[in-house]
Amino acid sequence: MKKITIAIDGYSSSGKSTMARELARRIGYVYIDSGAMYRAVTLYALEHGMASPDTGLNAAELVKALPLIHISFKPAGADGVQHTMLDGRDVEGPIRDMEVSRMVSPVAAIPEVREHLVRLQQQFGKERGIVMDGRDIGTTVFPDAELKVFVEASPEERARRRMLEMEQKGEKVDFDEVLANIRERDRIDTTRAVSPLRKADDAHVLDNDGLTREQQMDRLLELYHEAIDTDH
Ligand code: C5P
Repeated sequence: MKKITIAIDGYSSSGKSTMARELARRIGYVYIDSGAMYRAVTLYALEHGMASPDTGLNAAELVKALPLIHISFKPAGADGVQHTMLDGRDVEGPIRDMEVSRMVSPVAAIPEVREHLVRLQQQFGKERGIVMDGRDIGTTVFPDAELKVFVEASPEERARRRMLEMEQKGEKVDFDEVLANIRERDRIDTTRAVSPLRKADDAHVLDNDGLTREQQMDRLLELYHEAIDTDH
């Protein structure tokens, strides 16, 4: 069967990663979480004293270090989740911490960081048969993707989901803090100079406020079947 490229973009915690991962599993495609790559670079910056919530970000040092930062993915194991590797170390846990969430949008706004990661993402997608989720996949990484989906949900709904996720990991967090972080990331992501978050003109909007996971998946599978039946 014809293999296509699927780009899923949307706001923080809109549920797009869960949907993208599940879609890839069901149709036998490779799934790549591009946000995890920005998070891994952010973790590197935090661990190497190039970023801190108090002193901010040393963009020049981080840009110099980019060729030394190796990001890869370990295929899903028993937990069904693909793990992000930074320089050969499994960092799937630490890249989801609040400290990384706080610093990731400024890191992702550095043009050289974006260029570096976009190139890597395009290499991952060379063979097609890929589902990638992020902010600029349909606009910049794969502008020719045969299927583009833009996921929307209200900030409050997204904060509730993020809280639940963190609580399941045993982290105690405050709802207002999570909501503020989501709003702040939305603001930086939509207003940055390079590849701001926006819906591609040819993307399908999926508003998942009030939709169950199964309803979202049905809609995605419908769009996927339409896309592979279309001559591109
Ligand atoms: O998807 P996730 O919330 O894990 O992404 C973390 C951050 O990485 C986003 O808030 C955004 O700043 C950045 N990002 C990006 N472009 C992408 C994916 C993520 O700028 N394609």
